[in-house]
Amino acid sequence: MDPWTDAHEHNGYRDMCLMIRNPSRLYEGCPPGLPQHYALRIIEHFLLAPLGEVRDLTITSAYRSQTVQSGLYALDPAKAARKAKGISQHILGEAVDFVPEGDMQECFLWCLDHLRPWQAILEYDAAGPEVIHLSIPSSIETIRSKRLLHVGGLWRDFDGTFPIISPGGAAA
Ligand SMILES: [Zn+2]
Repeated sequence: MDPWTDAHEHNGYRDMCLMIRNPSRLYEGCPPGLPQHYALRIIEHFLLAPLGEVRDLTITSAYRSQTVQSGLYALDPAKAARKAKGISQHILGEAVDFVPEGDMQECFLWCLDHLRPWQAILEYDAAGPEVIHLSIPSSIETIRSKRLLHVGGLWRDFDGTFPIISPGGAAA
C-alpha cells in the first residue's frame, strides 16, 4: 500500500470522500504548482468534503483554463478572456459545479447554512434544478459575495424562495 493511500485511510479522509463520486474531476486540467490548484484544495477542504459527508455528489465542472473558458464564448479569444475574467471564478480555481443526489433545492439551502460559500448559484433548466455552483472568497476584490438563482436564462437574487416549476416543465 502506498504511503499516500495509507495516510488518508488512517485519518478517515478516504471514507469521508466516498460520497464524492468523481473526486479527481476537481483537479482535472489544473497541474500542481498553479495558484488555481491551491484554490481547488481549499474548495475540496471547506466545501466538497463537508458536503460529501452528508450527501452523494458528482462534480460537473471546476477549473477552466482561459482557453477552455474562451472556447465557451468563442470567436475573439482575447475579448472573451477579458469578459470571462470578470464573471467566472472557475478560471481562478475558486468555483465548483456539482449535482447532488436528492432534492437539489434542499441541498442548496444546506450549503448556504453550513458551508458559507462566497457565491452560491442554483441553476435551473426547463425540468427544474440542474446544477449548484459554489465558490470560495475570491483573490479578485471586485468579485462579490452573492446568492443567485439562474432560471429561464435570467439571474435573480435568492430571497429564500424558489421558483414554481410547472408540470409542463418551464420554470417561472
Ligand atoms: Zn459554475
